[in-house]
Amino acid sequence: MSINAIKGFNDLLPSDSARWQFIEATARTVFTAFGFEEIRVPIVEKTELFSRSIGDTTDIVEKEMYSFSDKGGNALTLRPEGTAGVMRAFIEHKLHVQDAVTKLYYMGPMFRHERPQKGRYRQFHQIGAEVVGVHGPLVDAHVLVMIAQLFTALGLDEPTLQINSLGCPDCRPRYREQLIAHLSDRRSELCEDCNRRIDTNPLRALDCKVPGCQEATSHAPAMIDHLCATCSDHFTTVRSYLDATATPYQINPRMVRGLDYYTRTTFEVVTGLLGAQSAVAAGGRYDGLVRQLGGPDAPGIGFAMGVERVALLLEQRQFQSVPALFIAVMGDAARIAAFQMMTQLQKQGIRVELDYEGKSLKSQMRRADKLAARYSLVLGDDELVSNTIQLKRMDDGSQQSLRFDATTIADALTGGAGL
Ligand code: ATP
Ligand code: MG
Repeated sequence: MSINAIKGFNDLLPSDSARWQFIEATARTVFTAFGFEEIRVPIVEKTELFSRSIGDTTDIVEKEMYSFSDKGGNALTLRPEGTAGVMRAFIEHKLHVQDAVTKLYYMGPMFRHERPQKGRYRQFHQIGAEVVGVHGPLVDAHVLVMIAQLFTALGLDEPTLQINSLGCPDCRPRYREQLIAHLSDRRSELCEDCNRRIDTNPLRALDCKVPGCQEATSHAPAMIDHLCATCSDHFTTVRSYLDATATPYQINPRMVRGLDYYTRTTFEVVTGLLGAQSAVAAGGRYDGLVRQLGGPDAPGIGFAMGVERVALLLEQRQFQSVPALFIAVMGDAARIAAFQMMTQLQKQGIRVELDYEGKSLKSQMRRADKLAARYSLVLGDDELVSNTIQLKRMDDGSQQSLRFDATTIADALTGGAGL
């Protein structure tokens, strides 16, 4: 009996990998232009890192973590998100000593035990970025402009950027009390989880995906109306910088994030095309996190984008590479000459395919069609004697007679294909 992959854990097949490579390459290009450098951290960390940073009463820590003890009895967890590990590394390697501002990006798999559905998996991938060391609102705006640019560079203009402020340890507790009062009056309309959240994590009730809860909280007080003067100024200034750079955004006063460490500016990039899986990227400011993890008192801000969801949005677009040339061969002498030609062209970066094992001419041409090769040529004894081939354009069947010579053919392929 064959063994299948675990539910919610997906293979990325060659038919999809070019799209993922496009997403990753686009992110690297944009991040590099904005001054971010890559960091790669382990996939497994001590469980305590996540419970201390993400928060014990969040859905992630309560229900979604892949935690286990290893053979030495250590409590370990497959990372459910990237920020905690990146901040752990930031502190451990004292990156703040090298520069007062640290700009990092990462990409890789994350693990959450959720109910798998379209756009929601148990192993999924995030591309994220973090800035540590800046209190001022200019950096919030800079990160938001970078996210907007990332989506523009991906060619996605449908998702919208939504922003909110979650206040700070000065103003949030007072708001929290008001929200608790509002929710307590509506206990019977709220789901079981939200009833529990009233006591543990009331802001999360605003983010509940159960329609009854959304209805019941539709007139709940909003954090944004209860910000202290400092948080209010910060938010207004972030908005003015976004306006100054013509960065489109909406304010979403109901947006809360599923992780406890967020303060002040939070944001999501939201699509209407993926049902309940509407967030394609999300993040915010986390001014207390680094200190909470035992590091310096350094503020931070960052976000993560869900690669699977972005890939779904790009599903209609074609990213797979096609061969520039397919060489069909007739006879062993031709096969050696074709092999030499193929390798010379490949060393110049031109994708060429040929028949490896002496199939019929008809079946070779079928393969050229299947691979969607742009050009083909047939090489047999006659062509070798005359040193001349017919280069055929596959889309319209037009042919040109050329010398069987790598430079000549390379010129024809790259010129003709517009590479
Ligand atoms: P959601 O509300 O959809 O559960 P989230 O608030 O849990 O998302 P974050 O923790 O902010 O998500 O993660 C950032 C991004 O990672 C999300 O916006 C989403 O695109 C992606 N993401 C999160 N969980 C999953 C998952 N289980 N499968 C695929 N992508 C995910
Ligand atoms: Mg979630």
